[in-house]
Amino acid sequence: APDVAAHDPEIFDLIAQEAERQRVGLELIASENFTSAAVRAAQGSVLTNKYAEGYPGKRWYGGCEVVDRVEQLAIERVKELFGAEWANVQPHSGSSANLAVYNALLEPGDVVLGMDLSHGGHLTHGNPVNFSGLRYTIVGYKVNPETELIHMEEVRRLAHEHRPKMIIAGASAYSRTIDFAAFRQVADEVGAILFADIAHIAGLIAAGVHPNALPHAHVVASTTHKTLRGPRGGIILSNDPEIGARLDRTVFPGYQGGPLEHVIAGKAVAFGEALKPEFRGYAAQIIKNAQALAAAFQERGYRVVSGGTDNHLFVLDLRPQGLNGTKATKRLDANHITISKSTLPYDTEKILHGGGIRIGTPAVTTRGMVEADMPRIADLIDRALKGEDVKAEVHAFAAGFPLP
Ligand code: PLP
Repeated sequence: APDVAAHDPEIFDLIAQEAERQRVGLELIASENFTSAAVRAAQGSVLTNKYAEGYPGKRWYGGCEVVDRVEQLAIERVKELFGAEWANVQPHSGSSANLAVYNALLEPGDVVLGMDLSHGGHLTHGNPVNFSGLRYTIVGYKVNPETELIHMEEVRRLAHEHRPKMIIAGASAYSRTIDFAAFRQVADEVGAILFADIAHIAGLIAAGVHPNALPHAHVVASTTHKTLRGPRGGIILSNDPEIGARLDRTVFPGYQGGPLEHVIAGKAVAFGEALKPEFRGYAAQIIKNAQALAAAFQERGYRVVSGGTDNHLFVLDLRPQGLNGTKATKRLDANHITISKSTLPYDTEKILHGGGIRIGTPAVTTRGMVEADMPRIADLIDRALKGEDVKAEVHAFAAGFPLP
């Protein structure tokens, strides 16, 4: 950072402002986290100077002997972390990892069965303005209206009716354990590929506190920057070497050029951290915190979608409070509490606003917060949502928990 200060004070000042924003506020966006200084240093290294089109040992450019080892280490570590036979660590993001899966395994127009977006699915699972919705025939499964849980009998019925080529298990706003074995059973019944998108829960799976998708899914894709606590990026995993070979060709030369070896180095550092025993404690604490926080909201009269959480996040239905996602985000932002707005299953609010908010605990857990701290967070959010100014209290509270 001192180099940036001398060289480009304008950007330096903005980085400093962002560091301050992260330090003083409460970060409860379920897909965000605080990386270690080692992850950031690897990502900010001279590896960014290197072109390395291809894969370790098979590059188009000279001088790749060092980055070959970086990428190979990242591959070996991530395979160990998830028990995978094959891995590709080059996708620039979760969305581009998903793009590779679609491109490698489907033809335009093929039928894909994924979780309905307003029930927790991701943009790349069939939003009409995304490549997935534009290029494929998407059928969405919904949660059970009573329990708000994934309804396997409904998934089965839709699979038999529409005969999808691929079924997606995975979500951006679903607070319950995903039964990958049950999804595989349905996929086998109709001859579909099972694609598990574990972007949100990758860190929980790596730590063994959520069932692994890999023994069941034909292919798994993930981001590296959410619960896994690495740099922004994507990965793809499989136990099927034939699928792996197709995916390697699809990523490069299919749609990417040079891989980001500096980011891959950051991924390798994060995978190394996740392989350490401490990471298991961290991931278990994320879930304990999410459960304690959800319970603290229920005690204050809020409705938690599906009645609780098994993972790192939950969704609050704010319609009974006369709020929506947009209004709530504004009130919380003004108090330096960051969350993301969310649609609800069978939402009655406009999609643009969403009837609620999604709250996640990966980042506050990295700061060292535990269950006993959760009622304080619920109290601050509750009062901010009611229009109170709690900014000074937020700052004082956050100051007790240093950033990595
Ligand atoms: N898949 C899921 C389930 C996600 O939640 C996300 C990110 O929110 C992605 C994929 C896409 O990741 P990225 O934002 O890196 O493109």
